[in-house]
Amino acid sequence: MSVLPSATRAVLGACPHDCPDTCSFVTTVQDGVALKVQGNPAHPMTDGVLCAKVSRYTERTYHPERVLSPLRRVGPKGSGRFEPVGWDEALDDIAARLAAIAARDPQAILPYSYAGTMGLVQGESMAARFFHRLGASLLDRTICASAGAEALTQTLGGKLGMKVEHFAQAKLILIWGSNSIGSNLHFWRLAQQAKREGAKLVCIDPRRSETAEKCHEHLQILPGTDAALALALMHELVANDWLDHDYIARHTLGWEALRERALQWPPERAAQVCGIDADQVRALARDYGTTKPAAIRLNYGMQRVRGGGNAVRAIACLPALVGAWRQPAGGLLLSNSSRFTSDRATLQRPDLLAGRHPRTINMSTIGDDLLRAASAPFGPRIEALVVYNSNPVAVAPESGKVVAGFAREDLFTVVLEHFRTDTADYADYILPATTQLEHWDIHGTYGHTDVLLNRPAIAPLGQALPNTEIFRRLARRMGFDEPCFGDDDEALCRQAFGEAVDFDRLLAQGFAPLPVPDAPFADGGFPTPSGRCEFFSERLARQGLDGLPDHLPNHEAIGSSARYPLAMISPPARNFLNSTFVNVKSLRDIEAEPVLEISAADAAARGIVAGSVVRVFNDRGAYRCKAVVSERARPGVVNGLGIWWRKLGLDGTNVNELTSQKLTDLGRAPVFYDCLVEVQAA
Ligand code: SF4
Repeated sequence: MSVLPSATRAVLGACPHDCPDTCSFVTTVQDGVALKVQGNPAHPMTDGVLCAKVSRYTERTYHPERVLSPLRRVGPKGSGRFEPVGWDEALDDIAARLAAIAARDPQAILPYSYAGTMGLVQGESMAARFFHRLGASLLDRTICASAGAEALTQTLGGKLGMKVEHFAQAKLILIWGSNSIGSNLHFWRLAQQAKREGAKLVCIDPRRSETAEKCHEHLQILPGTDAALALALMHELVANDWLDHDYIARHTLGWEALRERALQWPPERAAQVCGIDADQVRALARDYGTTKPAAIRLNYGMQRVRGGGNAVRAIACLPALVGAWRQPAGGLLLSNSSRFTSDRATLQRPDLLAGRHPRTINMSTIGDDLLRAASAPFGPRIEALVVYNSNPVAVAPESGKVVAGFAREDLFTVVLEHFRTDTADYADYILPATTQLEHWDIHGTYGHTDVLLNRPAIAPLGQALPNTEIFRRLARRMGFDEPCFGDDDEALCRQAFGEAVDFDRLLAQGFAPLPVPDAPFADGGFPTPSGRCEFFSERLARQGLDGLPDHLPNHEAIGSSARYPLAMISPPARNFLNSTFVNVKSLRDIEAEPVLEISAADAAARGIVAGSVVRVFNDRGAYRCKAVVSERARPGVVNGLGIWWRKLGLDGTNVNELTSQKLTDLGRAPVFYDCLVEVQAA
């Protein structure tokens, strides 16, 4: 008797990763097994296509190294030696140890999480309720985007910008600080459409990325000089009167002061700072001043330097100067996440703090903070760390200190994870978390303006549990009996946007567009205190900061150190997304090994040949990887592609061994791309 294969079914989901595209996907399931994950053809932004990384989601979900039961440490911290343990035993012990610390001071407990999932439910819902109720330290989630976010807020009034679909109708697109092919693929498809219809594409990036190669022009500026370029563009707009005087008069604040600032930046001055020709600056200004509609796609790479906030402020002033906002295909997009007015108070319940005001720890300085003793200004020493949706040992800056902190034998560390990451190796307990195919979630996004729902396609593998359920069970053991700890995941999804989004529509089609105007600032209406695009920010001035955008040299400016003459940036390797996917073999096989891109001139000066192992170092540490002698690196700048798991690199380190814990001008963010190094043949 032949056995017929059972029918397959398609389940609508959403990509959970830290990527502006937030794709809608369809998982094909047969007999409870996910066979494949594909882009949802009905979702306009996704258009049926996923990137290479998430196309392999089933490989990641069914990875033989998935953690599928709770694990307890049996070896020294960091040794990666664990034994299986039952859920009840693990959670009883964790709850007892957290309760003992909380009895002394709950602020000695720190949650540590970021965008391992961008989902609002498996991100900060039940977890936030738990830590608020506990009174744990708060976490300042700065590691990626807070400099740019603060800059947009000060200038435009929020994380707001163009609707991404309108880039297809632009006639000039500046792709500024973004390797869109690698990290914003669906925007790149729109840019290609614009290009076919005659648009000019200009890339501004220290790296000659895959995207830069395919644009008409590439301005390969030095890291951390974007504001100088933007100010020189303004200089030329003024000098040639390529200005929309009516828009400036009616919809901006601080024009006269900004004009004076811009006039201090002739193209020659900026060219010297940026390391490019003055004629390139003039040509770009001419294009920007005379092409309509002109659109800027800014991404977060360029704000990972000391002056990153000012740079975003300067660039965000440009569209108002030429009146680009008047048209749907003109303006700027860094993020539209302020459009997503999710009900965070309901999801996260800060009222559970009940009048307590715990201290806030900046996640970008976790290396220093784990090593800090108790003191009056700092508060108690961090005694317990609960990590979820993050891999700080690999991704936080200055990893020598991060590792030293995680290695403290007196630190109690719990890690919710899919795999034994670098961070999980330092855990006292690893708790198996579900992947996006195994749980409910709901998503906003920063790259388009649709809400997405993720339904579970398969049952949790092994003993894995959703983050929400892990915190629910912990809450019960801690005696937290507020009804909100009983909300199930579908209820949390419904609470996320309340009446603002049609949940039935989400259930039916997986996505629901927000009502967003096509040209949001055509008639001004910026949600700033003045209602205008604020070239001058009174709010910044009141904080003792410069009210106008300016160029701030890097903390570690190129040329400032004889010992470390090279500037290093660490953009993502194309097949990795931060540290996610590094252990997916088919993707790691493409990347092969950690590499440092170095120019032919810098390699020759050091006797480095292509493919040789090099030592990259500065006062913070050293890192070994393979040299790729390539035009992708300009002379004076090296590109250390990230973010490898330390234990999968050449000598148990990664590029963050070299980065610093210094912070940006705005937003208290890290400065990953503001880092001087030297390189030598190993
Ligand atoms: S990582 Fe980005 S491009 Fe890839 S599937 Fe997810 S949202 Fe889409």
